[in-house]
Amino acid sequence: MVDLTKKCECGRPAILYRKYEGRYYCDHCLSKQVERNFKKTIGINRLIEKNDRICVALSGGKDSSSLLYLFWKVFRNRKDLKIFALIIDEGIGNYRKKCIKKAEKLCENLNIKLHKTSFKKEIGVTIDKIAKKTTKTCTYCGVFKRYLLNKKARELGATKLAVAHNLDDEAQAIIMNVIRCDLKRFERLGPMPGIIRDKKFVPRVKPLRNIHEKELYLYATVHKLPFSKRHCPYSKDNVRRDVRTLINNIEEKYPGTKIQIVKFYDAIIKKIKIKKKGKLKHCKECGEPTNQEICKTCELLKRI
Ligand code: SF4
Ligand code: ZN
Repeated sequence: MVDLTKKCECGRPAILYRKYEGRYYCDHCLSKQVERNFKKTIGINRLIEKNDRICVALSGGKDSSSLLYLFWKVFRNRKDLKIFALIIDEGIGNYRKKCIKKAEKLCENLNIKLHKTSFKKEIGVTIDKIAKKTTKTCTYCGVFKRYLLNKKARELGATKLAVAHNLDDEAQAIIMNVIRCDLKRFERLGPMPGIIRDKKFVPRVKPLRNIHEKELYLYATVHKLPFSKRHCPYSKDNVRRDVRTLINNIEEKYPGTKIQIVKFYDAIIKKIKIKKKGKLKHCKECGEPTNQEICKTCELLKRI
């Protein structure tokens, strides 16, 4: 909790204390910082190009709601760009249905077209059904979601798929891949993972990867964005949760740790990505882009 008697440098009451900077921020200055960070990540990494059709992946949570709002705020007057949103219902009890309501409200407020689809409609299963057959629910959900986001974004004519990974997510993903010694996935992190050009693959961009999760929560709250605070009932104990706790504890003791992890990643990835520029294959069963003969979605579907 921030000390409510503290003031921002501009004199307004503080809502955030950035320990790694030793500085208090008010709602106004925090918003400016978040927007500057968003623009800087896009600019430095050239995430958005002229005439892009940007599909924003919405979940109804604080991060993706902030992402859509930022795109609207920063780019709404760019006539060459088109911005629309996509949400996927995984079939998780009432959980996602409530999130979808928030996403609908946000898109209505911003006058942005929201496209909806579901696992049930496109893949023929719900996560609730899968959870009865396996303990690896999140593995299935993650693979199916990536598959469907790409497929739908492509069908909607998107040239970029914007996802709401924040700084905390990015730092966790880096450490998780170190723990698993997964160099292939490690290589695929970064602001625009999988830059490989393939007509069936929509490049994913991560404009929030340098913004702390806590700041996005405050940003969404300050701007009164409709978002759901609920957690998925399947997000139980897993490696990610342990890594999150570990990094948060280190950040508390050594402020700035999350930023340093991501900076370190960016510095070394430039060196190890040199020989990478391979081509994608297309799945023999469904035709979607993959690194294997059969894509992960088709492989997992066979197991259940
Ligand atoms: Fe899917 Fe829920 Fe797992 Fe997230 S926590 S991957 S929404 S099942
Ligand atoms: Zn396939």
